[in-house]
Order: sequence, then structure tokens, then C-alpha cells
Amino acid sequence: MPPVDRNNPLRAESSESSYSLMEFMRQFPDDAACLDYLWRTRYAADGEHATCPKCEQERVFKRYATAQGRQSWTCTGCGHHVHPTAGTIYAKSSTSLHLWFYAQYLMTSTRCGVSAKQLERELGVTYKTAWRIANKIRNVLMADDHSEQLSGDVEVDEASVDGKPRQKMNRRDAARFRERSRATVFAAVERGGRIKATVLPSRRGPALKRQVIAWVDPASIIITDDWPAYHGLDVHFLAHSRINHSERIYVQGSTHTNTVEGFFGHLKPAIKGTYRKVSHRWLQGYLNEFTWRRNARLVPGSMFEQLLARATSV
Ligand SMILES: [Zn+2]
Repeated sequence: MPPVDRNNPLRAESSESSYSLMEFMRQFPDDAACLDYLWRTRYAADGEHATCPKCEQERVFKRYATAQGRQSWTCTGCGHHVHPTAGTIYAKSSTSLHLWFYAQYLMTSTRCGVSAKQLERELGVTYKTAWRIANKIRNVLMADDHSEQLSGDVEVDEASVDGKPRQKMNRRDAARFRERSRATVFAAVERGGRIKATVLPSRRGPALKRQVIAWVDPASIIITDDWPAYHGLDVHFLAHSRINHSERIYVQGSTHTNTVEGFFGHLKPAIKGTYRKVSHRWLQGYLNEFTWRRNARLVPGSMFEQLLARATSV
């Protein structure tokens, strides 16, 4: 057996990981490495030559040490400062870039989410800072850009994810309770493809229908359960297949909503186990996080690198 370098562990070929903690530590050993990464990816590929917005031409930039520890490069032609974090989620943050990057690493290496409490412990920051970091990552970097509609065979479904009635209720009261006090999460999934999810103010017809029409290409086949709110969707799409859940039929040939229900089946216990309680106000952020990770599986390259690319592409 060849000797292994224990100080430099390599990722096993057969490991599911596509970016391990050791790789993170090698690529980003400190705050300066993170800043340099932003500088090179956003402004100066060679670390030295960048277009100066003031001179309006390519100039040589230098990083001068300043008493305030300024995080900027200076144009040697006119003295203009370029801050590599400008316009990104890291701009004006007093938290180390190294911690920001590590938080992104953590949020892309888990499959069940990271709570702000866990980030607080892991990063050694206050709860408030941890929460702010997680919130920015979820709501800016992981938000769906809605650039493309879903297509092909698309399953849609809705679910309530938080809160259960305290006492037993009959079906009518339970329905009323869901409508009034539980957040409705609505999701659409391409079979073998991408997913979108959002919080809806109501699980009634108009809101649901509007969302399906906005998200799904008209040339698609829509698959739903027999919830009356989905009535009349067939005129907007190539076809509309319905599975009769109220008669306890769950699969009929290719008509089923198991894919989208699988997503809810992953989301609900994760929210309960990791976050304990999620207010309606912040629920969309968690949906972003779960749908982002699921969609990122379809794209080549590690999730961490994908998230970093999103952070630097502003
Ligand atoms: Zn200049």
C-alpha cells in the first residue's frame, strides 16, 4: 500500500462528497484568502490588473496596508479604491469573511438544514449574527431566480407545515383551522428535475391556480390530487391528470404525486427536528434552502462552489 499523507487527507473517489471540509480549509485557510478570492473572481483574474471605474481602463492595482485594515485594492493610476465585497451579501459586514464562507460551507454540506443556534456555536458569534448570516444566505443566495418555468411532467401539491390543532377536530373544523392559522406551502416538481416551493396566503383555488400558471410551462402535463382548488387547470396545460386521494387511490399508472409528497416528507420532519419552530414570516427562507439544495444536485460541481458562484456573481 502506498504511504498516505495523514496531514493532507484526500477525498475518496467513491465518497459522495464533492467538496470536503479539508478542501475548504486548504482553499480558504483565512480571511485574506476569502478576500483575495472575491478580488480575483469579481475584478482581477490575475490578482493585479483590473478595469478602474474612474480611469475607465485597465490599470494595475495594489493592496496597501492601512491602519484601519482597509479591505480594498487601490488603482495605481488615480488612487481609486475597489472593495471586492461591494454589492455582495458580505458588504459592510464586520463579521470575518472566513466565517461567512464557512457558514456557506455548513449550509451546503447538510441535507437537513443548520439552525441559527448551531451556527452560533460553530462560528463562535452571537445568536443575532448567526441568524443574520443564515437569513442572508437563504433569502439572497438561495432564492429562486424564477428565470425558467418548469416543464415536462409536473406534480403540484400543497401542505401545511407548522402547528397542529390542540384538540381533535372533525374534518370541517380541521380544514378551517388549516386555512386560518397554518401556513400553506405550495410546491411544484418536474419528474426527474427541478422544484419550486412557496408560502401561499391561502389554499383556495385562485391563489393555487395563479401559482401553477406562473411556474409551469403551458406545454406540460400537470399532475395533482383531487383537491377541488385544482379544477379547471386542464385548459391552461397540455393535460391535467388527477389522482383520487379521497378514494384512497394513490398511484394509477404514471398518475401519482409521490415526488412532490416526497419533498414534503423530507421538509416537514427537517423543519421540526432542526428548527423546532418557524414563523410564517421566515418560512420562505427555509423553503428556499430546501429547494435550492435539491435543485443544486442537478447541476455539476459541488453545492458549496455553486453557492459561492452565486455570491460573487452580483
Ligand atoms: Zn484609476
